[in-house]
Amino acid sequence: MSLIFEPKPTPVVEISGSKQKFPVNRIYCVGLNYIDHVLEFGENPKKVRPVYFMKPADAVIADGHNVPYPAHTKNFHYEVELVIAIGKRGSNIKESEAEDHIYGYAVGNDLTRRDMQISLKNKGMPWGPSKGFDKSAPISAIYPANIIGHPKKGRIWLSVNGVIKQDSNIDQMIASNSKIIAELSELFVLEPGDLIYTGTPSGIGAVFAGDQMDAGIDGIGTLMNRVV
Ligand code: MN
Repeated sequence: MSLIFEPKPTPVVEISGSKQKFPVNRIYCVGLNYIDHVLEFGENPKKVRPVYFMKPADAVIADGHNVPYPAHTKNFHYEVELVIAIGKRGSNIKESEAEDHIYGYAVGNDLTRRDMQISLKNKGMPWGPSKGFDKSAPISAIYPANIIGHPKKGRIWLSVNGVIKQDSNIDQMIASNSKIIAELSELFVLEPGDLIYTGTPSGIGAVFAGDQMDAGIDGIGTLMNRVV
């Protein structure tokens, strides 16, 4: 087989404590997965269910790298999230076996053109471009589960220019990591290299060029990016 052009290199994420990299296959995201965030979004936690969407694999951007302020928004939002890195293929995965498919965990930031998302949502249109744009998926190094285990609780936070904006705990997630893997693997074959952004707690808000976003999850790691 000959290709008409050289394909782009596979996007990769650092692995903490290793020279090896994690090659990214797909990026799945969960929306509306913390009760306090469902409430701030004006939805009823009893009526909504976590929703799934995607970003392109090459939207990943590493810790310490700059995020360009994207076009077509005047309300550019951060969302700190726990990220699951999948290490083993599977479909219709049982919740009880889901952790076998997890390679590790990272801290992510699900960057969002909020004004575009709300406008498209209000029109009943798909809101893909408000979420799946270039460099919309900052991510820390991945921390392997065989070193840090499978954290079930831990403070999750994000600050802008040193001021805390989001401050919650991953034990407040509506759907657990295992539940998310079970549900997603009914919709898609999960592959090694898949990343799952598992949703953000309350406190979402806007950033502007020059702002520094610091984020972290106790027991996992930290992530810093500047908007330029
Ligand atoms: Mn999100």
